[in-house]
Amino acid sequence: MSAKIRLYVEHPLGAGQSVPLDRDQAHYLFGVMRQAAGAHVALFNGQDGEWLAEIAEAGKRGGTLLCQEQTKPLQMPPDLWLMFAPIKKARTDFIVEKAAEMGAARILPVQTEFTNSERIRQDRLQAHAVEAAEQCGGTYVPEVAELQKLSRLLDQWPEDRQLMFCDEAEAGNVQLAAETQKDVPWAILIGPEGGFSETERKRLHALPQSHVVSLGPRILRADTAAVAAMTLWQHTLGDW
Ligand code: SAM
Repeated sequence: MSAKIRLYVEHPLGAGQSVPLDRDQAHYLFGVMRQAAGAHVALFNGQDGEWLAEIAEAGKRGGTLLCQEQTKPLQMPPDLWLMFAPIKKARTDFIVEKAAEMGAARILPVQTEFTNSERIRQDRLQAHAVEAAEQCGGTYVPEVAELQKLSRLLDQWPEDRQLMFCDEAEAGNVQLAAETQKDVPWAILIGPEGGFSETERKRLHALPQSHVVSLGPRILRADTAAVAAMTLWQHTLGDW
């Protein structure tokens, strides 16, 4: 038996485990999706894989699901961070959704010198990542971090994490070499609409873990660049 509806829950999952639903989940499942007791739903929590669960109780303000069998093991993405400078709301939402679908382990909005937006709604972006995982059949939800300064992140850059620095100034010049390290932690960095400042570019070029990468001879919008960079990285070094 399989279930069409997939739901992310913050609750342990296992054989015979009962899972309470909060008000929003009950509204979605019983109000919007018109499900009733006896119907089946696929549950995942980012830790225990995917479980087939039966609706035991359906109410307006809550409900209970009962886990029956595991339908997928937990599939972790590669240890890849997607770092990007937030742009307009809908395009930032798009970047988070695509990063979750394409297999980022963590999503880090970063404030660069030319970043327009000074604030993000982390909770809203995290909800987009959850929704993307529900839609794409994933069993893992990447954490969306709070907005932080790129300079501060670089101050404490982890020694073992390689950085794919997408530099539009190198457009058409450099490619991600297939022989660069596989199976090690990585991050992708995408700049804002205004690109990187000269100070940032110098610092990023000087970072020993940095791999300067071109995404072709045309300048891509940041949202396109995020998808292109994730595709290139996944194809060359990831789990595709
Ligand atoms: N204002 C910049 C300019 O006109 O040169 C363009 C910035 S672009 C819209 C946003 C980000 O996408 C860049 O900072 C870079 O990280 C990435 N990007 C876009 N096109 C790229 C390319 N051809 N090669 C590498 N990175 C690219």
